[in-house]
Amino acid sequence: MNELSLQLFQAGYCVHPEKIAIKDGRWGKVRFPALVGLIRHPNKGYILFDTGYAEHFFTASSRFPYSLYAKVTPVYFEHKQSIKAQLAEKGIEPDEIRYIIISHFHGDHIAGLLDFPKATFICFKTAYEFIKSKTGFAAVRNGYLPGLLPKDFESRALFLDEELPIKLTKDYTPYMEGWDVFQDGFILAVDVTGHAIGQMGIFLRDVQSGPIFLCADACWQSRAYREKKMPHPLAYLIMPDVQKYRENLWRLHEFHHLHPEWTIIPTHCTEIWR
Ligand SMILES: [Zn+2]
Repeated sequence: MNELSLQLFQAGYCVHPEKIAIKDGRWGKVRFPALVGLIRHPNKGYILFDTGYAEHFFTASSRFPYSLYAKVTPVYFEHKQSIKAQLAEKGIEPDEIRYIIISHFHGDHIAGLLDFPKATFICFKTAYEFIKSKTGFAAVRNGYLPGLLPKDFESRALFLDEELPIKLTKDYTPYMEGWDVFQDGFILAVDVTGHAIGQMGIFLRDVQSGPIFLCADACWQSRAYREKKMPHPLAYLIMPDVQKYRENLWRLHEFHHLHPEWTIIPTHCTEIWR
């Protein structure tokens, strides 16, 4: 078997006024599922793209000021929804997860890292450097809960951007450069900074569904890239680079326009999950 496959899971969700995520949305609260990608790579075995929520989220956000995080985005989660529990249902043990690709370090993406002690973490160094020494309010403002990061994180991390990027072919226009994660052409990573510094999106081809771009939180809902709709300005308060966010949202729009055959998957899009 020489093919890659991707399966999506939902590991909990939070609720939030729709209007924060997309400026012409409603003030009413909507669900934002936390999606996790399970990739089966023909030579590297099982790889996760993010982890969604996990029990650790509640431990890490129990004390002030970290508790502010859980107050602003109320989280709905049951034990059986952790990616660890859902994988166990399928007969996949935590130790079988050999890599976890971390799109960015927000709590709803890294809450399950502690459940996979054998995994190597793949991310951008720019993302890690930005959050690693943040604690207290500075951490919360950046959606980061320090208690979620395994103590041995650095020794298990593989920072793609320690190498120079490669030039991408016109199949990926307007994305010009990226990183071939395992140097085998199966997974290409690009920088989609804005929502978070050093946010990573990945391109891959699923054996059944075809080409897929997991764009993380480059936007919250699919309608945002289709219609080039920015979030409400209130969301800028927790956005480290609004200009880059806009650039990357426009880029995503153009990519969709040029390559309609690609399925674009924003992590929290209910349309995708349905
Ligand atoms: Zn995020």
